[in-house]
Amino acid sequence: MAQLIDGKAVAAKIREQVKLDAERLKAERGVVPGLAVVRVGEDPGSKIYVAGKQKAAREIGFNAWEHHYPETATQQEVLEKLRQLNEDPAVHAILVQLPVPRHMDPDALISAVRPEKDADGFHPVNAGKLLLGQPAPRACTPAGIMRLLAEVGCALAGKRAVVVGRSNIVGKPMALLLLQADATVTVCHRKSDLPREVAGADILIVAAGAPELVKGAWVKPGAVVIDVGMNRMPDGKLKGDVEFAAAAERASHITPVPGGVGPMTIAMLMHNTLAAASSART
Ligand code: NAP
Repeated sequence: MAQLIDGKAVAAKIREQVKLDAERLKAERGVVPGLAVVRVGEDPGSKIYVAGKQKAAREIGFNAWEHHYPETATQQEVLEKLRQLNEDPAVHAILVQLPVPRHMDPDALISAVRPEKDADGFHPVNAGKLLLGQPAPRACTPAGIMRLLAEVGCALAGKRAVVVGRSNIVGKPMALLLLQADATVTVCHRKSDLPREVAGADILIVAAGAPELVKGAWVKPGAVVIDVGMNRMPDGKLKGDVEFAAAAERASHITPVPGGVGPMTIAMLMHNTLAAASSART
C-alpha cells in the first residue's frame, strides 16, 4: 500500500519558512512583499482560488491586493491596470488569474506583466529561461511538485518520468524541470497510448483534467504517483485524474486529491512573491 504524500504538511512547512524570510527582509531592508492579483469575470473556481491566495499571502505578512473586473471589462482596461502595477514599487509580484473571459487574449495579458514581477512564471521570457535552464520564477504547480518529490526522497536521475498533459502551465514546465533533474521524460497527450506509457513510469505526473483517466492497473509497481487533477464532481467533491484506491495498491507513494498538489501551488506562489521582493531594487 502506497505511502500518502501529505502536500498540506509540506506546504505549511514552506509557508512557515517564507514567513520567517519575509520577517527578516522587513527587519533588514524595510521591504514588505506585495502580491497583486488581477481577476476578470465571475468564474466561481477563480474566485475561490484567488481568495485562498490572498488569505495565504496575508497570513504570511505580505501585502495582498485583488483587482477584480466585471465580465464586460475591456482588455485595454486590464492592460492599463497591469501597466500601473508594473510601475508600483509596493507591488513585487503580479498574477493574472486564468481563465479570463473569451473576448480577452490571455497571452497578451500574461506578456504585459514585467517578467521580474511574474508571480506564476508564465511570461514568455520566464518560460524561455526555464527552457534554457536559467534562473527565473518557475511555474508554481510544477515547482511545488519538484518540492514534493524531494520531500519524499524520490531520486530522479536516470528514472523514467511520464507526464500526462502538455499545457503551458503544468505539463510542459513539469517535463522541463524533470529533464533538468536528469530524469528520462515522456510527455503524453490525447494521441498517446496512455496504458503503455504509464506502465513504464517510475515517476508519474498526471495533469489532464479528466477524472480517473489513469487506471490503477496501469501503474508500475513501486511508482511515485502525483495527481494534479482537480475535477469538481456533480456531488461537489473533488476528484483527481488517477483512480486513487487502485493506484495506491501498486504505487510506493501517491498524492491525494485534495490535499496533495493543490496546497503546494499556493505555497510556491508565496515563495515566488518573496523571491521577487528580495531581488527588487529598493
Ligand atoms: P489543460 O490546459 O486542459 O491541459 C490538459 C492536458 O491534458 C492537455 O495537454 C490534454 O491533451 C491532456 N489530456 C486531457 N485529456 C486527456 C486524455 N483523455 N488522454 C490524454 N491526455 C489528455 O489543463 P491544465 O491547466 O494543465 O490542468 C490539468 C488539471 O490540473 C486540471 O484538472 C486542473 O484543474 C488541474 N490543476 C491543478 C492545479 C493544482 O494546483 N492542483 C494547478 C493547475 C491545474 P491535448 O494537448 O492533446 O489536448
